[in-house]
Amino acid sequence: MTECVFCKIVAGEIPSTKVYEDDHAFAFADTNPQAETHVLVVPKKHYADLPDLANDPEAAAGLLAGIRDLAQEKGLSDFRTVFNTGAGVGQTVFHVHAHVLAGRSFGWPPG
Ligand code: 5GP
Ligand code: ZN
Repeated sequence: MTECVFCKIVAGEIPSTKVYEDDHAFAFADTNPQAETHVLVVPKKHYADLPDLANDPEAAAGLLAGIRDLAQEKGLSDFRTVFNTGAGVGQTVFHVHAHVLAGRSFGWPPG
């Protein structure tokens, strides 16, 4: 059995507030939101990080399409999408996930 927390969320073994789902992607609210809208979008299949996901173009495209479609569904026209890659920049869950953030102003470049 997988020990991956996001695989367990996708499988419904750990509860989450689901925001969006399709064949490739699953999206749920972050438990520690950094903006009014803070959604995590994950591929249903396990990939550790962005380079791992990029080895499967179909899954990578599926994740991006999921981000597009959930944003459209939720009426988000402006949003920030963040992939942390590696513990050195704060990746804590090694099932690749996009942070989709909206509802406040964001500085650029990010701090
Ligand atoms: P990372 O730092 O790896 O880019 O992001 C991991 C994110 O997952 C964090 O923002 C954290 O709040 C969120 N997170 C960790 N565990 C859980 C969980 O069990 N449920 C949900 N909904 N979010 C989680
Ligand atoms: Zn996983």
